[in-house]
Amino acid sequence: MTLKKSVSVFGVTGSIGTSTVDILRNHSDKYSVDAVTAHRNVQSLASIAKDLNARCAVIGDPDLFHELREALAGTDIEVGAGETALIEAAERPSDIVIAAIVGAAGLKPTLAAIRRGARVGLANKETLVCAGALMTAEVAKHNATLIPVDSEHSAIFQVLEDKADKQVDRILLTASGGPFRERSLVDMKSVTRKQALAHPNWEMGAKISIDSATMMNKGLELIEAWHLFPVAEERIEIVVHPQSVVHSMVEYCDGSVLAQLGSPDMRTPIAYALAWPDRIKVDVPRLDFAMIGSLNFQKPDTNRFPALRLARQALQEGGTLPTVLNGANEVAVEAFLQDKIGFLEIAEIVETVMEKIGREDLTSLNQVFETDALVRRQTAAHIAAV
Ligand code: NAD
Ligand code: MG
Repeated sequence: MTLKKSVSVFGVTGSIGTSTVDILRNHSDKYSVDAVTAHRNVQSLASIAKDLNARCAVIGDPDLFHELREALAGTDIEVGAGETALIEAAERPSDIVIAAIVGAAGLKPTLAAIRRGARVGLANKETLVCAGALMTAEVAKHNATLIPVDSEHSAIFQVLEDKADKQVDRILLTASGGPFRERSLVDMKSVTRKQALAHPNWEMGAKISIDSATMMNKGLELIEAWHLFPVAEERIEIVVHPQSVVHSMVEYCDGSVLAQLGSPDMRTPIAYALAWPDRIKVDVPRLDFAMIGSLNFQKPDTNRFPALRLARQALQEGGTLPTVLNGANEVAVEAFLQDKIGFLEIAEIVETVMEKIGREDLTSLNQVFETDALVRRQTAAHIAAV
C-alpha cells in the first residue's frame, strides 16, 4: 500500500475548491485532507470539512470564528479564523496545497506554503501577477514545486514536460473570447452583470467570469505564463479559440506544435496538479471529435478588449506595474459586480490607475503589499469620484 498524500485546499468553497473536493472524495485511498479554508461561507466550509474528514478548518473573516466553532462542535477538527490562521494553516506540513483563493488575498498563505517547500497547485493566478519574480524566487529558494492549475498553463506544463531542453519558439495561449467575443464596443457598453457572468464554456467564480468577459483573464494568464515558463514575452501569443477544447499549444523550433486537449472541465488540470507526475482517473465528459466537428481559431481584438493591451504593457514594463494592473482590476471588477460602474469602465479604470500610479522597480514583497493597498485605495477613490 502506498502512503496517502495529505492535501490542503485554500478557497475550498469556491468553483476550483469544490471541483478539488470532488476529486479528493473519489480518491480517498490516495489523499487525506489536512486544512480547508473559506472566506465567509461557514456552513459550506464546515460541511466540506466534515465530509472530507479534514484535520483543520479556517475561515478568513475573523468575526466568524465562533460560528465555525459551533458548526464543527462535536468533531475533533481544529478551528481557526482570520489572516494569521490562514497563514498558519498553510504552514502545516501537508504534502500538497491547492491555492484556490481568488485575488491577491491568496498571496500570504500561498507564500507560506512555498516557504516550507510544499507542492503548490496554483489556481490563484493573481498571486503570480502581483508578486511575479519575487514569488518564483521564493519557490526556487525553498525548493518548492509550483504546478499550474489554470487550464492553459496546465496544458503548457503537460506539453513542456520532459522537453524543457528543446527549443521553444512560441507559446500559444488559447482564449475562449468569453461571452462578448462577437459583440461590438457599442453593445458592450450596456451589457449587464448577468450577461457578463454567463460564460459560454466554463462555470467559474464571479471574478474570473468577469475577467473572461473583459479578456483581462487572458491578460493575467499572459503574465502568469511568462513567470511559469522560460519564454520571452513576445513569444507568448494569444489565440482566440471559441470551443475551449485546445487548452494551449507549444511550438518548437522545428515547426512542430504540441497541444493538450480536453473537455472544458477544471477537474482535469486539478487532478494533474494532485497526481503529478502520475495521472489519476477523473470522470469528466470525454471529447467526441465527430460531435465537435470543427475547431476555430481567431486573432484577438485588442480594440474591443483593451485589457489585453494593458496586461501586455504591464508585462513589458514590469516592476510593480502588473501589481497595479491586478489591484485596480480587482477593485473595478468588484464595482461592476455591485452595479457601480459599466462594463467598459473596468478596463478604462485600470488604464487610468496604471497611468496615475506608474511603475517602480519591484524589490521586496513588502512593496507588493504596499503597492496593492495603495492601488486599491486610489481605484476606490477614482470610482467614487466619477
Ligand atoms: P470562487 O469565487 O468560486 O472561490 C473563491 C474561494 O476563495 C472561495 O472559497 C472563497 O471563500 C475564498 N476567498 C475569497 N476571498 C477570500 C479572502 N479575501 N480570503 C480568504 N479566502 C477568500 O473563485 P474560483 O472561480 O474558484 O477561482 C479561484 C481562483 O482560481 C482565482 O484566482 C481564479 O482566477 C482561478 N481559476 C479559476 C478557474 C475556474 O474555473 N473557476 C479556472 C482557472 C483559474
Ligand atoms: Mg485559464
